[in-house]
Amino acid sequence: MQRRRTRLEFVCRGWKPCLVCGDVEGKFDVLFNRIRAIQKKSGDFDLLLCVGNFFGSTPDAEWEEYKTGIKKAPIQTYVLGANNQETVKYFQEADGCELAENITYLGRKGIFTGSSGLQIVYLSGTESLNEPVPGYSFSPKDVSSLKTMLCSTSQFKGIDILLTSPWPKYVGNFGNSSGEVDTKKCGSALISSLATGLKPRYHFAALEKSYYERLPYRNHVVLQENAQHATRFIALANVGNPEKKKYLYAFSIVPMKLMDAAELVKQPPDVTENPYRKSGKEASLGKEIPAPEEESACQFFFDLNEKQGRKRSSMGRESKASPHAKQPRKPPQPPGPCWFCLASPEVEKHLVVNVGTHCYLALAKGGLSDDHVLILPIGHYQSVVELSAEVVEEVEKYKDTLKCFFKSKGKRCVLFERNYKSHHLQLQVIPVPLSCCATDDIKDAFITQAQEQQIELLEIPEHSDIKQIAQPGAAYFYVEFDTGEKLFHRIKKNFPLQFGREVLASEAILNIPNKSDWRQCQISKEEEETLARRFRKDFEPFDFTLDD
Ligand SMILES: [Zn+2]
Repeated sequence: MQRRRTRLEFVCRGWKPCLVCGDVEGKFDVLFNRIRAIQKKSGDFDLLLCVGNFFGSTPDAEWEEYKTGIKKAPIQTYVLGANNQETVKYFQEADGCELAENITYLGRKGIFTGSSGLQIVYLSGTESLNEPVPGYSFSPKDVSSLKTMLCSTSQFKGIDILLTSPWPKYVGNFGNSSGEVDTKKCGSALISSLATGLKPRYHFAALEKSYYERLPYRNHVVLQENAQHATRFIALANVGNPEKKKYLYAFSIVPMKLMDAAELVKQPPDVTENPYRKSGKEASLGKEIPAPEEESACQFFFDLNEKQGRKRSSMGRESKASPHAKQPRKPPQPPGPCWFCLASPEVEKHLVVNVGTHCYLALAKGGLSDDHVLILPIGHYQSVVELSAEVVEEVEKYKDTLKCFFKSKGKRCVLFERNYKSHHLQLQVIPVPLSCCATDDIKDAFITQAQEQQIELLEIPEHSDIKQIAQPGAAYFYVEFDTGEKLFHRIKKNFPLQFGREVLASEAILNIPNKSDWRQCQISKEEEETLARRFRKDFEPFDFTLDD
């Protein structure tokens, strides 16, 4: 017999850790035996939340044992509904119900708040844009009604946990690699929109048979909005998968309601940009989702006391983004005065030698040589890791052009970037005469001098992307040779600011040790102007910005 839940059954008791599981697909024994083993070792868990397919397409024999009470789940288990026609039969009641002792179907969509205040929002099924929506799908209306229910007060800050079966589309943007799952192609854009609105601290999903723990992402726009808590997206694999991909995740959090505001918004060191905000398409999501015509029937346990029924006239900042979605993006703005943002009054314009669409070239102040230049983004980006694709493309174009330019002068370039105590990306390009030494000598000099200072320089594959190695926000130093080889150092605590210069100035390479500190190389503004004029003229035949 199926019976309705009472509110008490949803009490999420305090701070005992919770478990989340990916697609069970009917492997109940495998899952519950594993949980018994974990409980034996680590003590009790508060509850188990299952995302993805709880039932499989296999025969029901195993399930019958749970349904009839021969076997019992060792933990209070909450599951999302069907994702396909085959398994709709198990989930008869839209508002959720008990499926077996200790196993409860949460319902099509809703929210429950435990006695401790932990707020969990869930949405069952897969995305469907066509009405009528099949029994295993959610519609744009479902998503917007959840958003309206929750986000319509100015006090709304976010929720603790969001449970969905599909991944949100674009979740991999600006993040660590999502492995074999292409988040631009799979997943649901409606779920991305839901996550954008609800700002969960944890978002769990499944269905892709893959484990992916994304780096936490920001929910606010830096420098334009007050800091908000970050979101952690975690996708889990299927139970008992042969590759032993992670399918169970344990975590423990203090409900945000009970947290100190400053504590809540503390940004993890590896926090990234919001994957949904800048994806271009996301900006239009707000428009695609029609406003709900009616408040959908709230589930009986939904906390009706405050937020119900009040709608906002606008959807907040999302709607603001929509009309401008097609306009070219303005370059990011600096937090304050910046010496390198091209639009900033602080920039030393007389040192600028070439200006492209996204980047520009400037002579280095106090350069190691007269033709030591910097590749800089026009907008405010801290490091190459944060650059958007079109900016990266132009950086590469400048690199290639400079290589040709210096080659014509009998020199090879060495490039380095230090993302540490620096606010605006400066890609240093230092030409080294071919007659001076071989590229391998330069590489050796970097390795040897790094060792002397206990700096671990790792060789990274040719043409590999720093983005794949460094997390946004993480401090690093890397040097790139004309062969495309790169040496990378992850900066943990301290790093000698002049390291790259020192090595290049050393006897092994340019042999100008007195120039290792740029402050000792300063010249007058008139001299700088002369050098810049000369560089501009020399560079002209190579200038791709003059093409067409
Ligand atoms: Zn800047």
